[in-house]
Amino acid sequence: MKPDHVRVRFAPSPTGPLHIGGVRTALYNFLFARKHEGTMILRIEDTDQNRFVPGAEQYICESLDWCGLEFDESPELGGPYAPYRQSERSAIYREFIGRLIEAGHAYYAFDTEAELEEMRRLAKVEGNRVFQYDQQTRKLLKNSIVLPSHEVKELLTSCASYVVRIKIPENQQVVVHDLIRGEVVVNTANLDDKVLFKSDGLPTYHLANVVDDYLMKITHVIRGEEWLPSAPLHVLLYRFFGWEDIMPQFAHLPLILKPDGNGKLSKRDGDRLGFPVFPIEWKDPNTGETYSGYRETGYLPEAVVNILAHLGWNPGTEKELFSLEELIEEFSIERVGKHGSKFDPEKAKWFNHQYMQRKSDEELGLMLKPYLESHFVFPTKDYIGKVIHLVKDRVVLSSDLWEASWFFFMCPQQYDDEVYKKIWQSGTSGYISDFLHEVEKLEDFNKDTLHTLVQEFTATTGIKMGQLMSPLRLLMVGTNQGPGMMDLADVLGKNEFVSRINVGLEIINRTR
Ligand code: GLU
Repeated sequence: MKPDHVRVRFAPSPTGPLHIGGVRTALYNFLFARKHEGTMILRIEDTDQNRFVPGAEQYICESLDWCGLEFDESPELGGPYAPYRQSERSAIYREFIGRLIEAGHAYYAFDTEAELEEMRRLAKVEGNRVFQYDQQTRKLLKNSIVLPSHEVKELLTSCASYVVRIKIPENQQVVVHDLIRGEVVVNTANLDDKVLFKSDGLPTYHLANVVDDYLMKITHVIRGEEWLPSAPLHVLLYRFFGWEDIMPQFAHLPLILKPDGNGKLSKRDGDRLGFPVFPIEWKDPNTGETYSGYRETGYLPEAVVNILAHLGWNPGTEKELFSLEELIEEFSIERVGKHGSKFDPEKAKWFNHQYMQRKSDEELGLMLKPYLESHFVFPTKDYIGKVIHLVKDRVVLSSDLWEASWFFFMCPQQYDDEVYKKIWQSGTSGYISDFLHEVEKLEDFNKDTLHTLVQEFTATTGIKMGQLMSPLRLLMVGTNQGPGMMDLADVLGKNEFVSRINVGLEIINRTR
């Protein structure tokens, strides 16, 4: 009988930073758990000491926290099935491997690395095969199936290094029922005798994963497609332990593919193609290399969540923007596709732009604040609000905020040479000076009075609108970009407007 309380786990190995594919796995587990009012568990699978990377566990937690994915049980929070870090559970695995050995489903193997290497070499040379430790080859190797029991005992007590392998039975069909892929049937002839317990006294992923899913009462295993080939082995382990009728249901998520080509999106693709593949920035402690993250690049967590939600799952409607609550409501495993989804960096930006537009001026102002502080400018909240209002629609990433608005807070330090050459003629300084005098006379300076003044000035002097506006923009912004001139002047105010023209004319007349 299957229990009805859903319990799912996200089970990363702290072997490096969490790729966005991993964040998606965590997200789908989270959505599924919340949808079914179930329990979401974080289990750290750190039994491979050789691949352990310092800081990776903390990185994983910080990334998921940034995305708003919360756990109910975890190494930090604890819970009824603690500990949730596999390296702290070694005594448990020892007991379970003992059960398998006793029942004849696992055996000791004493082959040294050099001996196995020789087998690999021979297989290659003699039969052009890849060596596998399996139901055929195990008969020729040094293990407790072949050796007489007194010799096995001697080896076990003589500190000889050994591993424990699963004894794959001959010619059995193993069926994996996958919620996404349907039935996957494999004959045991195609499986090898994987190591379950290593010479360092720790289990491998396969044993620890199955034992923990059982002990932690996991009902659904939702994980990446790369684990599908291991699923038959896991099903066999459930069978050997006698847990087959309470085995979790499996759902293997399709791969996230590169934008160009068909391969899996890898950690190198992001920086090669100009977008992050990690949720937050990662500094590799071994190589010192830094990989960019969505957070630091200027993405909002809600946009990242939406990007990932749509990479594999589809709502079945045209709706594209969801809050986390809406995703919980809509999500279902039935709507996860079988085929890999191509990552689309442009679409990712589109999502972020949409979410940026939904932020209030005040929230965007808070995002701008660190940039202001780093330039030692401290405008009023009201002033920041006006600026945000004008630049908001052109901001895609939060890091664009400063780029789109700095000239509201600082006078340009230089004037774009290309633009200058294009728009500045011999008479320009003269008529800009004349215009400035008119501006100075304005008592009430705002976008409407300025607009009227510009109209009058162009009408009486015969100077074209563009001939006036482009130089003014260059003096205000240093280039030919920015929001509408009247809006810009309105926010800057008369003093700043006048001062920028004065300063700009002085510099241009002196240097060009
Ligand atoms: N520790 C595995 C990983 O790093 C977990 C796979 C699973 O969820 O079973 O992805």
